[in-house]
Amino acid sequence: MDKTFQVPIADLQAQYRALRPEIDSAVARVLESGRFILGENVQRLEEEVAACCGARFGIGVASGTDALELSLAALGIGPGDEVITTPFTFGATTEVIVRLGAKPVYVDIDPDTYNIDVNAIERAITPRTRALLPVDLFGQMADRQALWRIAQEHGLYLINDSAQAIGAQQNGVPVAAVGHATALSFYPTKNLGACGDGGIVLTSDEQIARRVRQLRVHGAEGGAYFYKVPGYCSRLDEIQAAILRVKLRYLEEWNERRRQNARRYMELLQGTETVLPVTAPGNLHTYHQFTIRHRQRDALQAYLKEHGIATAVYYPLPLHLQEAYRCLGYKCGDFPHAERAAEEVLSLPVHPELSVEQIEYVAAMVRRFEEEQTP
Ligand SMILES: *Cc1c(COP(=O)(O)O)cnc(C)c1O
Repeated sequence: MDKTFQVPIADLQAQYRALRPEIDSAVARVLESGRFILGENVQRLEEEVAACCGARFGIGVASGTDALELSLAALGIGPGDEVITTPFTFGATTEVIVRLGAKPVYVDIDPDTYNIDVNAIERAITPRTRALLPVDLFGQMADRQALWRIAQEHGLYLINDSAQAIGAQQNGVPVAAVGHATALSFYPTKNLGACGDGGIVLTSDEQIARRVRQLRVHGAEGGAYFYKVPGYCSRLDEIQAAILRVKLRYLEEWNERRRQNARRYMELLQGTETVLPVTAPGNLHTYHQFTIRHRQRDALQAYLKEHGIATAVYYPLPLHLQEAYRCLGYKCGDFPHAERAAEEVLSLPVHPELSVEQIEYVAAMVRRFEEEQTP
């Protein structure tokens, strides 16, 4: 079948084929070394990712979810504490707060960027608030300067969920430079993806780094069987780290290609009913997702699917309306911007492996859908 007319939402096979000799030999070297846990590759990757994201320390862990949970745990967040966060994100952002026995307190999003509305945060602060947990959704950073100012003024921790934003910058400042800790994910489809699960905590605070290092190995320090605190079993393994180090060399080029793809969509979709993504001033977007809005989102998605184009809805139900978090007591109407976004958003394929023809085909099918709707 002509590849132009089959457009996947991600193409990990093409990514692997392009790097096959490098990845295969990196994996073979680890297999031959016999060292699979916390070796040289993990340490080097930690240094390399920390450097490229503007932090002093990196601590590799088993997933992006664990990177969030260990960050919060290292800061002592637990029962009785409130953490201010966004309802329009992947479930892990809220899940880690709840798992630690703390309470998520939601603030609505800015409808243009889908990131937390920094102007609404101060109203949600109570004497129990301990931390802010914003998300850099779809690959652009939430307003770090405003978040940091609020955190400083109210004595709160700032933890960034940057799972989707490796390589992003704001006014030239990289993603992990501001805040107490920043969590990244190496889930396979993220902009820098492993061949399995993985994540990393980034911080420039030596104490926080030390605590996360302790927590990832059962709370041990100063020898494997001496436990300072009850911890976790959450490590990034050597094979994943070796693969990630190969891919990290291509990250900038890949992110640039995503931006190019996004620009192309913007031109081709001008004048349609599609609401295009908005980049806040000063942001360098990494387009983990290219997310449009459309009044007839479900019909458009079905139409594109019929024509071989895979799309996705991130996210179809805000977290405050999820069954799992009903106990938090929120109801429909509490966060209208998040609720409306959930009804209208659609992410189009934007991955670096797309061809120009594929992007033109997707845009042409969006146009044709609209033409066929008009009576
Ligand atoms: C992917 C993701 C996570 C979780 O990362 P995993 O590696 O899948 O555990 C957390 N938050 C956001 C916003 C994500 O997109």
